[in-house]
Amino acid sequence: MMRHGFRLLLLLCLGLLPGSLVLAIQTEVPRFTLHPLEADPEGDVVLIIGGIQGDEPGGFNAASLLATEYHITRGNVWVIPNLNFPSILRRSRGINGDMNRKFLSLDARDPDFEVIQRIKQLILDKRVKLILNLHDGSGFYAPRYIDRQRNPARWGQSVIIDQEQLGEAEFGDLSRVAQRVVADVNTRIADTAHRYHVKNTRTGEGNHEMAKTLTWFASRHGKAAFGIEASKQFLTHERVYYHLNVVEAFLDLAGVEYERGFELSAAQVRERIDGNLHLSLYDHRIGLDMRNVRRRLGFFPIKQNAPLTFRASNPLLAVVGSGRQLKVRYGNRHVTVLQPQYFDYDSSLDEVLMEIDGVSQVHSLGGTVEVEDEFRVAAIEGYRVNIIGFRRAGRRDESDIDVRLRDIQRRFSVDRAGYMYRVEFYRGERFCGMVVVRFREKAVERGSRKPNG
Ligand SMILES: [Zn+2]
Repeated sequence: MMRHGFRLLLLLCLGLLPGSLVLAIQTEVPRFTLHPLEADPEGDVVLIIGGIQGDEPGGFNAASLLATEYHITRGNVWVIPNLNFPSILRRSRGINGDMNRKFLSLDARDPDFEVIQRIKQLILDKRVKLILNLHDGSGFYAPRYIDRQRNPARWGQSVIIDQEQLGEAEFGDLSRVAQRVVADVNTRIADTAHRYHVKNTRTGEGNHEMAKTLTWFASRHGKAAFGIEASKQFLTHERVYYHLNVVEAFLDLAGVEYERGFELSAAQVRERIDGNLHLSLYDHRIGLDMRNVRRRLGFFPIKQNAPLTFRASNPLLAVVGSGRQLKVRYGNRHVTVLQPQYFDYDSSLDEVLMEIDGVSQVHSLGGTVEVEDEFRVAAIEGYRVNIIGFRRAGRRDESDIDVRLRDIQRRFSVDRAGYMYRVEFYRGERFCGMVVVRFREKAVERGSRKPNG
């Protein structure tokens, strides 16, 4: 993964102390990411772009799944799943205006200027022969007026071309290529109302709006580019399902071969979108599975006077700053709020010894440990263990104690279901890292547990 661009500097003014303590939290959010999936390093490339507008989750989630779940075995695909990442994270079409109207002319002072220059360079790369720009469009495009939702002014369920022909370019017979893809995809769509059509915007014939778009920039430079629209009438995972069908039809036509880690069905697509949410902070001192996480995690150990560095399991997951809180966002979705407690960090400890259900095991900080009934953290001289939600009178260090699920207050769990808990390690007042223990879900225990707190 190549990271482009500038870091988002978030100045958070925290009025924690009388006087003025100003903390600068810098979260390392890339402007966009490029994922080269290559089986033929010298060969032609299909460039696939999602998220040029931040409020079209079908397109950017489809591109994200391409980046994380597809393995290319022949040919090359470059995926940009998050071209307008700051807008995606804020669920805005464009926080600096519509990015897909900035390809004809643009003031160098425009906040998107740098991104536009970089994407133009990628489009013009000699190896790039085919460009797909994924969108979510209103209603259903129909060549003739049927009703308010189905008519020529709508965009959903269409493959967009700017003109019939593009001279000598490979895939330059735009109309025929699009018709073939649509015919192929429609064989797999049982409901006739959901089938695709080709929409020609006739951009060169005086369509001033479309003349400002990415695909028209590509066309003007002899590159075959198509807009792909999934209807906003569908739920996100259904849009993604349709997008992937269209993308695969294009890849088939271009001779690109691939394997994917799931079966292409709307249900499996949904599972993949919801199931890949792992976040690792500060060089893996902390690792959290964000599926079913609580809406907020309190007293969260954040490194003071330092940038917040993270690695995410997929390109739509990020930590962004906001007021006194750090928000974890996944595309357009809110995941959780980290309520910071600031610490200096200590990097002298990487592994810890734990007894899990009676068996001694070494675990790395940043990991998750599966527990059936009980765990115990072996004491480490000079370090202190803090099990969040656990209390033992007179003990500040919670090592060398057998801990069961019922010993921990449920409201401190990481997950909403109450099975995952933070075990934190400190050296003096410095934070060393965290292990998450995950108790196995037990129907009986779950039913009999009394609510805590
Ligand atoms: Zn769009």
